Amino acid sequence: MAGIVLDGKALSQAIEAELSARVAKIRERAGGRPPILATVLVGDDPASATYVKMKGSACRRVGMESLKVVLPQATSTAELCARIDELNANPEVQGILLQHPVPKQIDERSCFERIALSKDVDGVTMLGFGRMAMGEPAYGSATPAGIMRLLAHYGIPLEGRHAVVVGRSPILGKPVAMMLLNAHATVTICHSKTQGLPEIVKVADVIVGAVGKPEFIKAASIRDGAVVVDAGFHPGNVGDIELAPVIGRCAAYTPVPGGVGPMTIATLISQTVAAAEASFGIS
Ligand code: NAP
Repeated sequence: MAGIVLDGKALSQAIEAELSARVAKIRERAGGRPPILATVLVGDDPASATYVKMKGSACRRVGMESLKVVLPQATSTAELCARIDELNANPEVQGILLQHPVPKQIDERSCFERIALSKDVDGVTMLGFGRMAMGEPAYGSATPAGIMRLLAHYGIPLEGRHAVVVGRSPILGKPVAMMLLNAHATVTICHSKTQGLPEIVKVADVIVGAVGKPEFIKAASIRDGAVVVDAGFHPGNVGDIELAPVIGRCAAYTPVPGGVGPMTIATLISQTVAAAEASFGIS
């Protein structure tokens, strides 16, 4: 029997409908002014430009605004930090998204750290990560938090299950591993130096692909009845996991596209709404 489709597109639409009502309430409280997500795009990477555009469109769909900051490819770390400082100080801005990746000459970590914790709606700061890892309130990294919300929505059991995460990036692999751990899964994190990856993947009840290489995780390594979560998106509508051969024998899977991607945006917007509610004292 085919696995359940973890339909991130449908869930993100339902989330947006709920957010629209919350945004209307914030606007009432703010004399009609909309909550604002500042999006910072540095350089001319076309994929990043598309992601930022999609995030801006999602803001408008729920009645928010986005403040677009576009900086040239040659921007320095100091220049980018100065723009982030301005956004931190701007009371109209409730959330700040610095689109990853930034050009190579920029110290991305320093710039992420510059974002005020109260405006870190994309969950990129070390303090936000640390708080999340310790189970304290924090905005989670958007893609991992979106994955967790999707799994929760479909009632996917995690407690005591073996989750294997392939990838350990600060925005995806590491935080999703920590969130799965907090949900009482037993977690194995794999990376480019991992030996015997296919054997490790074979014992996964839940496999998360966060590698950035098309169909890198092979169907033959995935056991029957596994839950397949794929954060990757590559030309030809494929992810980081070879999905087609496992659809008929897995418990559940995220489609590519329409799985993890829409949940990332819905989570970012959701966390911006929560930040706006916090700034207006709405509980
Ligand atoms: P990244 O920063 O490039 O990290 C890739 C990770 O994969 C690294 O930890 C790397 O290990 C690991 N890796 C590379 N080669 C490997 C190998 N041969 N065996 C095992 N692990 C290996 O990428 P990312 O930003 O986390 O993104 C990962 C994927 O998710 C990409 O496809 C990206 O497009 C996608 N993504 C999607 C969304 C969304 O909204 N849907 C958001 C973010 C990312 P090392 O640490 O050892 O180098």
